[in-house]
Amino acid sequence: MIRSLMRLVILGPMLFPAAVSWAAMEPLHSDGMPLPMPKPDPALMYPAEPVDIEIPLPRPDLATILPRATRTVTEMFLKQTGKLTGDEATYRLKSGEGLATLLRRAGYERADAAAAINAVIGRASLRSLPVGLKIRATRDGFAFTARNGRDIFAIRDPEEGWLAFTAIRPVERYLSYAQGVIDDSIYRAASVNDIPDPALAEYIRVMGFSVDFQREIRSGDAFELLYEQQIDQITGDVIGTQLHYAGLMLSGKQLGFYRYDHDGSRVGWYDRKGNSAARTLIRTPISGARLSSSFGMRRHPISGYNSMHRGVDFAAPTGTPIIAAGSGVITEAGWYGSYGRYIRVRHNSTYDTAYAHMSRIARGIRPGARVEQGQVIGYVGSTGRSTGPHLHYEILVNNRKVNPLTVSLPTGEHIPPELLTNFHSKVELVEAEMLATGNLRFAAMELLSSESGASLAP
Ligand SMILES: [Zn+2]
Repeated sequence: MIRSLMRLVILGPMLFPAAVSWAAMEPLHSDGMPLPMPKPDPALMYPAEPVDIEIPLPRPDLATILPRATRTVTEMFLKQTGKLTGDEATYRLKSGEGLATLLRRAGYERADAAAAINAVIGRASLRSLPVGLKIRATRDGFAFTARNGRDIFAIRDPEEGWLAFTAIRPVERYLSYAQGVIDDSIYRAASVNDIPDPALAEYIRVMGFSVDFQREIRSGDAFELLYEQQIDQITGDVIGTQLHYAGLMLSGKQLGFYRYDHDGSRVGWYDRKGNSAARTLIRTPISGARLSSSFGMRRHPISGYNSMHRGVDFAAPTGTPIIAAGSGVITEAGWYGSYGRYIRVRHNSTYDTAYAHMSRIARGIRPGARVEQGQVIGYVGSTGRSTGPHLHYEILVNNRKVNPLTVSLPTGEHIPPELLTNFHSKVELVEAEMLATGNLRFAAMELLSSESGASLAP
């Protein structure tokens, strides 16, 4: 059984001051001509003596400069000129056709089409308009959506003649909260709860450092997440999805991670204390695989003798991609005796990982090459001493092979002290959004119990 509660709210841009991209997408209400905002003149800001220091000027956001797109050209024409125009029709750009030909097809005089195109040049690359592009046109203007998702409008102004401008499509953001109990798989639970694929993929990536979804999930474990969807108000299409909170109640263990945008360029996931969700190494550097042999004493499948198995085996079809468990430098990549095709990565002075029996080593993977965490380094095979396609995976701590599934691994970075206050305010906003749904929340329970010293967990 899945318990689920969804709720939609509209977020103002002030809710998440650190998320720069949100503000950039804030729709703008504009009623006049699309004129650039005057830049503040620093000289006027200082009536007395000139000063030596440079004042950083806030760069005006595009969304505050550009007008808001309308659904129709007719609406835009009315908004810009206060006048009505004729019937509006939609044309599709044919193969081998240019904008000029299309406008002629729409009934424009040759000179009119040329003047309109002249105004559009510089707003959009007219050479690369895709075949099939939808162009809405009236006798006094036309509009289409450019590659960057913005709308280009061209309007015949009764006084100024043809002018063209870029308009921002109105986008609204909706937050959804979802929680549910996992019966058998997180994928099924997510699908029953209508969680969008990009949010689920991000959830699994973030949780994947702490949890093995194929092996650790027990019936009755519960998940919760808060995600945002950006919806084009003209077409109704979802144009972006963003996960903001990922929580999991796992056999009594509680995990909760918050997305944090450091400066608009770097995003990380952290628990409420600011510790990164990321670990320096991934325990399962392959997806969709089944654990076929664990670490420890076993009867060897080929020799028949009991021996120590100093790695873990993941059975997977030949050709399944294998990723680097962490960032580092390749120290071995090639045939390695009974290991078959083998790769070893040195992550730092303490940790190494090794991958064996590959069918193929990825291009560019050779000793000395640098790899990033998650980069594909090779493909599952059955080379060397192996009875079927699988990945034999080892984690080495100071050159000693340890159990990859249980070794304690260092976390990634921590929120820098100077950003902690800002991070905590984001955490509080996310918490408030989720608590507003009226649900008992795992992370909130954790918060209450850690603050009062009493345990409220069931
Ligand atoms: Zn093995």
